[in-house]
Formats: sequence, structure tokens, C-alpha cells
Amino acid sequence: MNKKRPKSEEMFRRAEKHLVGGVNSPVRAFGAVGGTPIIGARGAGARVWDADDNSYLDYVCSWGALILGHAHPAIAAAVADQARRGTSFGITTELEIELAERICAAIPSIEKLRFVSSGTEATMSAARVARGYTGRDLLLKFEGCYHGHADSFLSEAGSGLATFGISASAGVPQTTAALTINLPYNDIAAVQKAFEAHHGKIAAVIVEPVAANMGVVPPSQDFLHDLREITLRGKTLLIFDEVITGFRLAWGGAQALYRITPDLTTLGKIIGGGLPVAAYGGRREIMDRLAPLGDVYQAGTLSGNPLAMRAGIETLKLLAAPGFYAQLDDRAARLAASLRRELTASGIEARVQAVGSLMTLFFASQPVTNYAEAKKSDTARFAKFFHAMLERGILLPPSQFEALFVSAAHTDEESDATVRAARESLRTL
Ligand code: PMP
Repeated sequence: MNKKRPKSEEMFRRAEKHLVGGVNSPVRAFGAVGGTPIIGARGAGARVWDADDNSYLDYVCSWGALILGHAHPAIAAAVADQARRGTSFGITTELEIELAERICAAIPSIEKLRFVSSGTEATMSAARVARGYTGRDLLLKFEGCYHGHADSFLSEAGSGLATFGISASAGVPQTTAALTINLPYNDIAAVQKAFEAHHGKIAAVIVEPVAANMGVVPPSQDFLHDLREITLRGKTLLIFDEVITGFRLAWGGAQALYRITPDLTTLGKIIGGGLPVAAYGGRREIMDRLAPLGDVYQAGTLSGNPLAMRAGIETLKLLAAPGFYAQLDDRAARLAASLRRELTASGIEARVQAVGSLMTLFFASQPVTNYAEAKKSDTARFAKFFHAMLERGILLPPSQFEALFVSAAHTDEESDATVRAARESLRTL
């Protein structure tokens, strides 16, 4: 309680001088919850320490990248070993081949892939290859979904845009924005209408199969199935953005969980084990349109970076252990159930929406099924709750519109400590 953070305060003031807003990614600035962001110093397992050596149970987990927690010994050792062998070559290494093999084996819809360094690059490039392959220009996305910060995806997007109430980014040419159709998540009738209105013109539908950037919003029954049917009929490619859900909701991602085969998939976060890796991939005939085989261009100096590949390979080896996902989901389900009990006991209007190890505590009176409903949440209440939890040593994502990530490093004892902190924090509201 009443943690003192003089070093974080001082460092954040230093940060603001030369880093815009003191951060390199907007949500980190605590803009939606107020107060000075804590400055991270180190992490181990489910815990992070700030610059003042206060420790916190971490539910940000690098925004989902750290499914094994911080500084996992096997990953740290692999990265250290690779650093001695060379950190970048600019020619293909066996590590890229190995990680690609592991990913394609886990996610059968990905016959071929290309590694990039961020989720943004993955979705931007997937959209390009979809346009190149179909010869069409329009993209269809859903309000409240976040697909990185490429021009095409920055309208009615989730994550930081939801946090800061930005409906569309300045700097995106109107002619580019006009090529993106935005529809409410879970609204298949709206999709049908758009396909009628733009017959033969939609290159791709991109979707978070479980939305996690407006807070966690599961797909309604048949939404993904119907999307698959409509896109097949319209000869439109279906892109599953599994940057968050890939290797999190199941070994084969959300597409395995919901048994849907998309044409293209984007991955990030977990496949890099905490280092900058993302990928896009899918059917061979589509991916073969990429240079050097085809006429769609995309490249990267550090793509397939060996340090990052080693971290990814070690991560996937550990995730392949029998029962890994069952155990992770059990832990998360236990936490979600306990939080729900506390909410009921408190009488506060709020709900936990969860899919596997992704969850959001929405201060909302009704279930949230789309972005318009998510935006009705009581964000002021969330901000109070966030700070009450932080004071009690629990680090939540600093926005109502983000998912909380449970890792395999979170123990039942830590989960219980989280629930106790939540009980006390709810009393302060
Ligand atoms: N797609 C999804 C679903 C994401 O959640 C994110 C980032 N959180 C991205 C794309 C963009 O990834 P990056 O931040 O690595 O560019």
C-alpha cells in the first residue's frame, strides 16, 4: 500500500524530455488512468519490479508476448548463447527454417509464411498480398479490433485508439481510409449487406477471432463460421489476426479452437518469446505471390533475426508440452471465477469476460459484444480500480479496453493474492 515511487517519477520526467509523451507506445503513458507511469526495471516469472524496487504481479506480460512469464531461464539462455554466435546476418539461417517449420506444423492453414518484426508489419503485409492476389482494393474490418498502426487499419480501431478516444488517426489520406469498410463486431447481417453493396470488390476481411483490443469480446456463436462462408462465396480472403490469440488460446490458435480455416493468418507476440518477431502466412498459392517468387513486394533488414528466432523456438518448444494449454486455461478460469465472485459480493456493476487466458473486467452493466457497448463502460471507475490494484502490487493493463494476460508463471497463490487485492480495491470504489 502507498508505494513510493520517487525514481519512477524522476525518470518519467526525464523520459518526457526526449520521448514523445515519455513513451514509445501510447497506452504506456497511463493516459486513461492518470498518474505517473511506473518505470520497469526487471522481471522474473509473473513479477515485475519498478525503478524503486517495488514489485508487482504483472498482468500486462508485454501485452501478451510473455506467455511463459518474464526472463524464462531457457529463453534467456538461448538468447545469450545466440548473442555469442552473432545477432544478425542478413542471410537466411537455419533458425528461421526451424521456427517456420514449427509454426506451420502447429497451424495447418499456414503452408508458407514470412517473418517480420512487428504485428503491424504482419497485418499491413497480409493486406498487401491479399490485394495483390485478388486484384481488389477494399478491406473490411471490425470496429474495436486493432490490427496495428498501418494506414488502412486506423479507423474505429481498438487498443490505444479506444483508450484515447481517437476515431481516426490524422495523417491517413482520405483516399486510403476510403478503402476500409468498418463494421460492428459480431454483426453478420452488416457483413452480408457490405458484400452486396461492394460485390466483387472486397479483397479481404480481417478480424481478431477473439477481439482483445476493446477489452475481451468473444465471437458470437457462428460469427466466424458465417464470415468464412460469406468470404468463400465472395472470393474474398479471410485474414485471422492472431497476433494475440495465436499460440495463446490453443496450440493451433483461435482457428483451432473455433475450427475455422482462414486464408491468411497474422502472428506476433508469443512467437517471439518477448523479442520482436511477427509473421504472416497462409495458403501456398497466395503466399507465393510475394517477391522473390511473385509480384507483391515486402522485405526487412532484421526479418527472421536470429536472436528473436532462438527466443521463439525455445518458447514453442515449451508450449508444446502435453497439457500446457489445459493447465494455463484452468488457472485463468479459476482467477476469472474468483473475480466474478468478488464482483457479485461487492454489488458493483461489472463483469469479467474471458476466453482462455485472456480476460477483461468491464465496468459495464450488460455483456459487451461490440465496440459501441464496450465504449459504454465506466472508464472513470476502471481508472480508480486500476490504481487501487497498483497500490496493492497488481499491475493491470492501464486501460479498460485491453486484455489482461495470464501467463504460465502465474501460480494459484499469486492468483489468490490478486483476488484479495481485487476484493479490497472494489471496496474503495
Ligand atoms: N494485431 C493485433 C490483434 C494486436 O493486438 C496488435 C498489437 N497489440 C497488433 C496487431 C500490432 O502489433 P505490433 O504492436 O507488434 O505492431
